[in-house]
Amino acid sequence: MLPSDERGSTKASGPHVPETEEDWHPEAEQSSLRGRENAPEEFWKERMTSEQYRVMREKGTEMAFTGEYLHEKADGTYACAACGNPLFASDAKFDSGTGWPSFDAALPGAVETHADTTHGMQRMDITCGRCGSHLGHVFDDGPTKTGKRYCINSVCLNLEEK
Ligand SMILES: [Zn+2]
Repeated sequence: MLPSDERGSTKASGPHVPETEEDWHPEAEQSSLRGRENAPEEFWKERMTSEQYRVMREKGTEMAFTGEYLHEKADGTYACAACGNPLFASDAKFDSGTGWPSFDAALPGAVETHADTTHGMQRMDITCGRCGSHLGHVFDDGPTKTGKRYCINSVCLNLEEK
């Protein structure tokens, strides 16, 4: 005897959001992640560690000197941990002594900057140009010829080694 189908047809309306890890194909979805800053927060919560969610979606900051990429020297490209968007080349990385991975330039068009006046400071907040996730801040006191210092949380990055 076959079980009767009583699951009903209560389909959620609105944009399709994959419900399981198996449905998640970052490579295939990368192009469609543009504008996902408007995706339901559950979309991100399911795909991030609690620390990534706190930093990337709630604009938090990881503790200084704790990030896995702080002293990373490997060649490659640092991509957005949320959507895979390439953000920084490893040869732009330098040791700023601040406790966070620092870069003197972002890849062209990779990030967006916004004025951030929280905590009584005048800072420029950096978000991923594709998915809108918070990454860190950029300052105008960089030691190299670009004059920029992108101060980025390790948890927001995923190094794709060459
Ligand atoms: Zn992203």
